[in-house]
Amino acid sequence: MSIVVAIDGPSGSGKSTVARGVADALGLDVLDTGAMYRAITQAVLARGADPHDAAACAQIAREVAVDVGERVLLDGIDVTSAIRGPEVTGAVSTVSAHSEVRSVLVDRQRAWVDQRGGGVVEGRDIGTVVFPQATVKVFLTASGDERARRRQRDEQEAQREVEVDEVRDDLARRDHLDSSREASPLRAAPDAESIDTTGRSATEVIDHVVQRVRAAVAEAG
Ligand code: C5P
Repeated sequence: MSIVVAIDGPSGSGKSTVARGVADALGLDVLDTGAMYRAITQAVLARGADPHDAAACAQIAREVAVDVGERVLLDGIDVTSAIRGPEVTGAVSTVSAHSEVRSVLVDRQRAWVDQRGGGVVEGRDIGTVVFPQATVKVFLTASGDERARRRQRDEQEAQREVEVDEVRDDLARRDHLDSSREASPLRAAPDAESIDTTGRSATEVIDHVVQRVRAAVAEAG
């Protein structure tokens, strides 16, 4: 049976850590779909295109090669750090709101899973749109303060100094854009398990998700 684990939630909810831990425990690959939207945004900005121009963004999405693994490659160039910078973070929710852009990336996400016969996929619309038949779906949340603290720690690890208030404002802005857009808004699938990760260790959440996957596999026989 092919195993697909869908991990959705807003920024700072713990998606990447949980997705990596679950993938390691189950011997699966992990796909960070946010990095794909960020790489397309990097290409849009590098070409001087307008992030609000849906047709131009979709054209660029179709033209560029994005490889998301340990490193993120855009047409073969390593953009791992650049896509986490303030320019891309400031524009990514605008670029990813275009349904034309989303359909290009959703096709690639499905192809990625097909090639591997399964995987752990993290994003915003994985359980609702990309893999509605996923083996297990979770939707992670955390308090605003905890999310801002985690994001600030990520920024510091990447040698970028930011104020926690700045991070909190950016999270609120992206949450609003991501949840209010018409195309595949950030939303828990009705059959996703919502998990509040505030004050919970990553190991605890990872173990829980892994157990759910094992139970689903056992049940499927
Ligand atoms: O996960 P990350 O914060 O890197 O995602 C960056 C942005 O990419 C999100 O704020 C959202 O606008 C977009 N995104 C999306 N759908 C996904 C993953 C990310 O729209 N599946």
